[in-house]
Amino acid sequence: MCQQIPALSVAAMWRVNKMADDIDRAGERIDAEMTARLRALPTFNIPSLLNCQDCGEEIPSKRRAIGAVTRCVDCQNNFEGRR
Ligand SMILES: [Zn+2]
Repeated sequence: MCQQIPALSVAAMWRVNKMADDIDRAGERIDAEMTARLRALPTFNIPSLLNCQDCGEEIPSKRRAIGAVTRCVDCQNNFEGRR
C-alpha cells in the first residue's frame, strides 16, 4: 500500500506556480494585448494627445507613437474596465 503519493500537494504546487506565473505575466500581457488591439485599429494616422484626457498626466512618447492615444495606461485600463 504505497498510495501515499502526495498527489494533492503536487496539484497545490502546480496551482501556486501557475498563479505566480499569471501574476508575472499579467502586466506584459495586458500591455501586449492593448498594443495589438490599438495596432489593429486604423488609428495610426490620428495624432495622440500629449496628456491623458482623464487624469492630465503626460502620455509617454512611446505610447503616443501608437496613434490616437488619449489616455495614459492606467486610465485606459480603467476605461476598458480592467482592474
Ligand atoms: Zn490618465
